[in-house]
Amino acid sequence: MSDTICIINGSVYDPANNIAGEIRTLYVRDGRMVDAVSEPARTLDAQGMVIMPGGVDIHCHIAGPKVNLARKLQPEDHRRDPHPGTIFTRSGSGGVVPSTFATGYRYATLGYTTAMEAAVTPIGARHTLEELHDTPIIDKGFYILLGNNIYLQQLLKEGRKEEFHHAVGWWINSTKSFTTKLVNPGGDEPWKGRRNSNVSDLDEKNEVFGITPREIISAFIDVADAYGFPHPPHVHCNNLGHSGNVRTTLETMKTAGDRRLHLAHIQFHSYSGEPGQNPGSAARDIIDYVNAHPNITCDVGQVMFGKSTIMTADAPLAYMLRGIKKAKWINADTECESGCGILPFSYQEKIYVHALQWAIGLELFLMSQDPWRVILSTDHPNGGSFQSYPKLIRLLMDREFRRQEIAKVNKRAIGKTVLPDLDREYNLNEIAIITRAGPARALGLTNKGHLGAGADADITVYDENPDRELMFSAPRYVIKSGNLIIDNHEFCADFSGRTLHIAPAYDESIVPSVRTFFESYYSIEFDNYAVDDSYLHEHEVIPLSRAAT
Ligand SMILES: [Zn+2]
Repeated sequence: MSDTICIINGSVYDPANNIAGEIRTLYVRDGRMVDAVSEPARTLDAQGMVIMPGGVDIHCHIAGPKVNLARKLQPEDHRRDPHPGTIFTRSGSGGVVPSTFATGYRYATLGYTTAMEAAVTPIGARHTLEELHDTPIIDKGFYILLGNNIYLQQLLKEGRKEEFHHAVGWWINSTKSFTTKLVNPGGDEPWKGRRNSNVSDLDEKNEVFGITPREIISAFIDVADAYGFPHPPHVHCNNLGHSGNVRTTLETMKTAGDRRLHLAHIQFHSYSGEPGQNPGSAARDIIDYVNAHPNITCDVGQVMFGKSTIMTADAPLAYMLRGIKKAKWINADTECESGCGILPFSYQEKIYVHALQWAIGLELFLMSQDPWRVILSTDHPNGGSFQSYPKLIRLLMDREFRRQEIAKVNKRAIGKTVLPDLDREYNLNEIAIITRAGPARALGLTNKGHLGAGADADITVYDENPDRELMFSAPRYVIKSGNLIIDNHEFCADFSGRTLHIAPAYDESIVPSVRTFFESYYSIEFDNYAVDDSYLHEHEVIPLSRAAT
């Protein structure tokens, strides 16, 4: 049973409840925030400290087959960064793609208490649930890759919208996932059939099914809206990383009309220029559209200099990058569901494109007019590790520090941006929005990202420090579901968080036709495919906002 805790004298940042830096007393009982407790078992004095809800990572890659492939591909990265255990916590291996244990503990040591794995093939769901169960402290969930699913594209091609709706519902139930993820929608399957085949425009019909990315994206938005998913389709647009992809990104957002849509790692989709030429910054065009359209949420996918690991369902992208990097890499097929590519990578200050990507991410943050909808991420570990979040926060909060960092990077790249002219400094309230309140709201997690009565008691207490990188690197206290996990910067307990998923109803009549497809094309028996409840362990079904149709 969790503790009864009272936290006094702290400066509270709880943007969802319009509290910005007020001294408040917080009360915790039975894992929830409450208005009062009579005799707290423990009182924490947070004098001189900053209190925020636990951090929420809306887009990262921390579990499942592709993450494990990335771990296997770079054992040297583990050897250089062992994660020691304590009497309360287990040991693990760190690096850019940490082990399950180190992932949970290291998120907690930054004050993050929820993280969403952003791309899982349905066939990898069982593996992913096992690894998420193995990831301590944090609550977690995952998005399933359906944007290149052969069966679903066949249904769309044949105009069978009703069956498409129920098949998506079946797939989400069968994987215990949180929402749908579309990666390079419609492009991977042609590429798997014929190298260098892809789609390059939102209205280009792919050569296998004769349907367009726009049709696929729109169909998934319709399903999410009809069901009332807490989080809309989570889209990695076509043409990631290509010069001139701003046109595709804008068209993708326009496809949504006024319907909800989340764009993942939007920095990687904000490039001007012509295909095959060096990119420039299109951050202004992208952020202007986002600012003006409250139905759109996005996470930035900030590039941070140093080691990273590209891991993506965008198989053609990984194939293209392998030619640039000339290092070990993997492309993997995932039956009828998606592509996959893994490539250890390193972003360097002096390389034009890397510096430009870094600067565009910062431009997007600094030109955003609504922090609730432009969320902090590095697309861990693609743009950089989640362990670099404290440095990213300092870049946003400390103009002088940012100037020093700008001076170190490729000048030609900086010259293509307006970054040196952007004087904005994020304040603590805005940081609380882009790291907890905003992502929780975008995910539809009404019990997270705030500290009002009834919220999950996920709380982080930081020592106030003008060096924001130091401040956000090591919270004084972390409370998870009402349990004190970090006390005076040290782990004092272990904890197993929950898996968050949705359970949309579907018409059972869809199942026989899915079974027929499986028996013809999958290497796995249909009866062995769906994940049963025994894989969920501690879990929570997040409600839909509408009755299922
Ligand atoms: Zn990602």
